[in-house]
Amino acid sequence: IQKIDKKAVQDAVQMAYDRCKNETGGKNADYIPYLADVPSNLFGIAACLPDGDVVAVGDTDYKFGIESVSKVPTAILAMNQYGGQEVLGKIGADATGLPFNSIMAILLENDHPSTPLVNAGAISACSMIKPVGDSDGKWKAIVSFIADLAGSDVAVIDELYKSETATNFNNKSIAWLLKNYNRIYDDPDMALDIYTRQCSIGVTARQLATMAATIANSGVNPVTGKAVFKPELTPKIASMMATVGFYEHTGDWLFTTGLPAKTGVGGGIMGVVPGVMGVAAFAPPLDGAGNSVKAQKALAFIAGHLNLNVFGTT
Ligand code: GLN
Repeated sequence: IQKIDKKAVQDAVQMAYDRCKNETGGKNADYIPYLADVPSNLFGIAACLPDGDVVAVGDTDYKFGIESVSKVPTAILAMNQYGGQEVLGKIGADATGLPFNSIMAILLENDHPSTPLVNAGAISACSMIKPVGDSDGKWKAIVSFIADLAGSDVAVIDELYKSETATNFNNKSIAWLLKNYNRIYDDPDMALDIYTRQCSIGVTARQLATMAATIANSGVNPVTGKAVFKPELTPKIASMMATVGFYEHTGDWLFTTGLPAKTGVGGGIMGVVPGVMGVAAFAPPLDGAGNSVKAQKALAFIAGHLNLNVFGTT
């Protein structure tokens, strides 16, 4: 992968926006009532370069629910606190090939939640975050870690948090099934609440792109210059994102783009090109696996146009 030129990135982002803006496929998530009411036509793309320059087109300052993209920072934080090997042992790093909310993800791996990037493993990761037993302390650790990655403050969208809490029955069963298999390392209801809160954090596409760039830049935020996590964790988290970032559509995505990325049902996607840059796109309508249709198209175009395939360039 070559060093990226800012002008080339600007052109690619603008072209992706123009090509994808009229895409009408997919529909907003509606199992969380708040998400059903987010305007479907919002669309933004941002990229953050190693020197901290952010290229942004469209609705890149709109705060949307981070949702499952939050599984990435919490997985990094758990690895930063315990080391990658311990997270591998307690949670795993396997592709599930299953929907994000699958209970089978726990059962199929012999009582193992598979990976911190699906709901089961993410709830388990929330239970691991230190200080164990201290809900406020854990929350502060997570929210400040996300802010450090993003280079600016983040906060929960209260209405979204209420909406998720009122409807997260499936996640409740996952938390207690994990508890049954000794894969919850704190109070299960507290771990679930931390997970629900982190999913309800509002972020902009700019912030997601900066988070991605910090990950790509071996843990050093290119905007603030702050060293946020241990450099050896970049390849670890990038491999997890590549393995399961689009749930049951992950293989198709990776085959098409070669870009480690993570989606959320709020419509955001964050892509990490290690050593090169971070990219993000946001548009609420989703495909059947819960991945934004427009954001996928936009990032796939950018990955192809800028030769970002981590498995090799053409
Ligand atoms: N909060 C959502 C859930 O747990 C996140 C899912 C997602 O973004 N894929 O169902």
